[in-house]
Amino acid sequence: MTQADTLDVDVAVVGAGVVGLAIAARLAERGRVAVIERHTAIALETSSHNSQVVHGGMYYPTGSLKHVLCIEGRRLLYEWCEARGVPVRRSGKLIVATHPSELGGLDDVWAQAERNGVEGMSRLTEAEARALEPAVPAVGALLSSATGAIDAYAYARSLEAAARAGGVLFALAHEVLGAHRDSDGFTIELRDPEGNPARLRAAALVNSAGHGAPAIARALGYPLDGGDGVPVLGQRPNRGRYYDVSPSAGRAVSRHIYPVPHGTGDMPEFMRTAGGLGVHLTVDIDGGVHLGPDTEWLEADATLDYRNDDSRRAAFLAAGQRLLPSLTDADIAPGQVGYRPKLDAAGTDADFVIWGDRGYAHLGGIESPGLTASLAIAHRVAGLL
Ligand SMILES: Cc1cc2nc3c(=O)[nH]c(=O)nc-3n(C[C@H](O)[C@H](O)[C@H](O)COP(=O)(O)OP(=O)(O)OC[C@H]3O[C@@H](n4cnc5c(N)ncnc54)[C@H](O)[C@@H]3O)c2cc1C
Repeated sequence: MTQADTLDVDVAVVGAGVVGLAIAARLAERGRVAVIERHTAIALETSSHNSQVVHGGMYYPTGSLKHVLCIEGRRLLYEWCEARGVPVRRSGKLIVATHPSELGGLDDVWAQAERNGVEGMSRLTEAEARALEPAVPAVGALLSSATGAIDAYAYARSLEAAARAGGVLFALAHEVLGAHRDSDGFTIELRDPEGNPARLRAAALVNSAGHGAPAIARALGYPLDGGDGVPVLGQRPNRGRYYDVSPSAGRAVSRHIYPVPHGTGDMPEFMRTAGGLGVHLTVDIDGGVHLGPDTEWLEADATLDYRNDDSRRAAFLAAGQRLLPSLTDADIAPGQVGYRPKLDAAGTDADFVIWGDRGYAHLGGIESPGLTASLAIAHRVAGLL
């Protein structure tokens, strides 16, 4: 699209990550929909820098959006991928206690999974866990057979294809610089691929811009720190680095292997303060094994650099060896880097924000399990508008 300045649409969706794409595909039937994306291709930010795990939903506070939309989204995601030939596998996951002191932590996860109604969970003894994963020194484990692996980029492409087939317009290489509301909708100020200003009119505006979402909300006049019926919309990036495991060492495991989160009795509190689930082993859709992600809080305006370095080698090797003692220094190499768009909401449970206000829909804090939940998030947004 080169004539963005003349376009008038029913819905503008900012951001062509999996969430924006799922929303656009869902809303296509409602009228003229345009997706605006600052990069020259879809899904180049968080949607292609993540663990590609289809999550079970056992960790999140019961009744939270993360819990409800993870479970609903997981079912929709498997159906979507299986119907369209997107690579996905119900490969399963083990949460392992590697020391008797962690068995209580497994009880906590089990209880939370029961409260959350997560299907396909079983408790394994030491012998049962070792029969499944002989290289992992488990003294007890939980098996989640609903957890899986997905090709996230192939999934994003399938959403784009569905949206385009539904008539959705794509303005790639167009960056939203500002937006304001008037009596009959929104005017969105853009920079086109040549660097020239352009303009789009939309009756409704969906802000699924990931790390870029707070800036757009601010341009519309919303306070980022919440109040007056507006939820907290400010975000801080939290970096997650990975190390890749060599194929010869990675062959020792055949499903995702997670530690017991912290061994604590308060799962949601742990998730909130640490910002992640603890370094774990994931097996991707092609059988590649990865270690990570770790967590590192950054300032709100930090530059997101997707290059990794080797500075975390010792910590990753130690974390990896707890789950896979045969791992050696020669088996790991720096992998990808991702950035969680975390709500800047100290003191809250940092759930997803899916908030609507007079034709505006805001998607905030869409960190994990946002990939798993994306189709369910799209249903929610369709209901809001
Ligand atoms: C380390 C890590 C591991 C994860 N692992 C998993 C996992 O295993 N399973 C799971 O379910 N979830 C996982 N997630 C979460 C999942 O990746 C995200 O929830 C999901 O990708 C969010 O998609 P999105 O479309 O909201 O955001 P994004 O993919 O970031 O898309 C937002 C888009 O908006 C565009 N944009 C921003 N500002 C502007 C602007 N001003 N103008 C135009 N375009 C703009 C960006 O370029 C970007 O393409 C993980 C996340 C991280 C960081």
